[in-house]
Amino acid sequence: MDLTYSEADEQFRAEFRGWLDANLPAEWRERGFWARQDRDEGFQMRREWEAEKARAGFAGIQWPTEFGGRGGTPAQRAIYDEEMVRYRAPLTVNGLGLTFLAPTIMVIGSDEQKRDIIKPLLHNEVIWCQGFSEPNAGSDLAALQCRAESDGDEYVINGQKIWTSQAMHADKMFGLFRTSTEDKKHRGITMLIVDLRSPGVEIRPLKQMTGALDFGEVFFTDVRVPKTDVIGVEGGGWDVAMLLLSFERGASAMPQYTAFRRELDDVVGLARDLGKDKNSLLRQRIASSVVELECLKYHSLHILTQVEQGKELGAASSMTKLQWSETHQDIGELFADVAGIAHQITGDGVDDLQRSFLWSRSETIWGGSSQVQRNIVAERVLGLPR
Ligand SMILES: Cc1cc2nc3c(=O)[nH]c(=O)nc-3n(C[C@H](O)[C@H](O)[C@H](O)COP(=O)(O)OP(=O)(O)OC[C@H]3O[C@@H](n4cnc5c(N)ncnc54)[C@H](O)[C@@H]3O)c2cc1C
Repeated sequence: MDLTYSEADEQFRAEFRGWLDANLPAEWRERGFWARQDRDEGFQMRREWEAEKARAGFAGIQWPTEFGGRGGTPAQRAIYDEEMVRYRAPLTVNGLGLTFLAPTIMVIGSDEQKRDIIKPLLHNEVIWCQGFSEPNAGSDLAALQCRAESDGDEYVINGQKIWTSQAMHADKMFGLFRTSTEDKKHRGITMLIVDLRSPGVEIRPLKQMTGALDFGEVFFTDVRVPKTDVIGVEGGGWDVAMLLLSFERGASAMPQYTAFRRELDDVVGLARDLGKDKNSLLRQRIASSVVELECLKYHSLHILTQVEQGKELGAASSMTKLQWSETHQDIGELFADVAGIAHQITGDGVDDLQRSFLWSRSETIWGGSSQVQRNIVAERVLGLPR
């Protein structure tokens, strides 16, 4: 494991910090700033700021320059993520497109798709959402039922998607649709691009316990999609989905480490303010979270080294997801115990920690639930029987 960054990496860090110092408004970094903004206006502010950052060359850090990226190294990508968290810079509004869609299109997209999707996505001209889950198809994704029937040069979509992040602000969706029921479950699926402004698309928000409307349900009634908007080939959607999901696996959890470490410091500060820093049980739990966090840090550096050396991470990446999501939930529960009953109400200065605690509940569900990750580790890492 390599614990150091090269001179070129540190130079990149200095350059990016310089840009953030000059271009990130000070008030945006204050606690609770984003919660005070109108939801739609706040989204627009972040969308434009991120596009400005892309124009300055601080986006697509690891992407090849031919696709408008910076052509940087995995270490530079990790530095970028770390500095974004350190500066409390607003997180991307186009995460699903950046993490999943663009790398997939780089590998299997048609020339037109490469031209029309990648750069506009990097510059937030088009915001993307991911339409995989349905009411009866989550962990068992291949059970999906939303149908796309062939009709000449088009498909006609009928059915429903659910838990679609960014549905309220997205322009387009990349989604999985059933184009055949005759093939085996996995084979009758096709990945399509759907313009969410098309007639027959209805988007309904789903309110979370934080009060946010980060995701929604998407209903399709006779929605027409041209056949040129297939990603990959008809019936090959399952393989495309597996390729797409593999791009999340290469990521280290350094940004999570940096964010959670700061959160833990805030919880310790709160314990001091409330005079609970002498409570021996709480002190033990704080120490335990510090240990968990340091394990996360060294695991992340190990993963980063493997990626730098071009090694395939495979199923071991499930360990990363398990480790960061469960560490974060432990910090959230620690916060709830330190804040006591106050953690249930808003407006007393703990709003950011409260939101993060509530959000952490979802982190062991999306991107593959903890139970599913444990099955993967048991079967594919440890070789235990199914
Ligand atoms: C905040 C958030 C954002 C999301 N964003 C998106 C999005 O943008 N696009 C999208 O398509 N989806 C999205 N999802 C949906 C997410 O992918 C699913 O919630 C997830 O796949 C789990 O599916 P499910 O909710 O149907 O639960 P189920 O699959 O029904 O699981 C219910 C419980 O059973 C357990 N379980 C299921 N199968 C097994 C098994 N084989 N062995 C052991 N235990 C099992 C699970 O771990 C879980 O505890 C999002 C979800 C959340 C919470």
